[in-house]
Amino acid sequence: MATNDSYGGYEQERFADKVHPRFECPICIMIFKDPVQCPNEHYFCRTCIERYLLTSDKCPECRCHLTKETLKTARFIREMLEDLDIRCVNANRGCPEIMKLQFLQRHEKNCGYSPTPCRNEGCDEILNKNEIEEHERERCEFRLIDCEE
Ligand SMILES: [Zn+2]
Ligand SMILES: [Zn+2]
Ligand SMILES: [Zn+2]
Ligand SMILES: [Zn+2]
Repeated sequence: MATNDSYGGYEQERFADKVHPRFECPICIMIFKDPVQCPNEHYFCRTCIERYLLTSDKCPECRCHLTKETLKTARFIREMLEDLDIRCVNANRGCPEIMKLQFLQRHEKNCGYSPTPCRNEGCDEILNKNEIEEHERERCEFRLIDCEE
């Protein structure tokens, strides 16, 4: 099964400098991604608390009444996070980029190291985005050889 990295926060190791524990989500124990807060200023990743609230209507920290609708954007925390230096999600695939968190999404959308499956039928290789065309055209065992007709 594919790992679902849209759930939970950022891994501590991805940041250039150690991030203060106050930025740790109490649910996933990672660094906040898209932080939101209860009325009493307990902070969580949006995906973490929204999943939690599927089966509860209370803040897991202070037990105050809480629903998806009463969650508020944690703007202050968010602004502080946006200034931290973080590695690209594809760092382990060779991407050397380190950038402010606020630029991460834009980079990752266009990152040449994104895992990209080969589109040739029968091939289940996954390559970096910046290598896929060459692979599909020249290296893939399953490529269609162009007929010069
Ligand atoms: Zn979380
Ligand atoms: Zn709370
Ligand atoms: Zn990258
Ligand atoms: Zn292939």
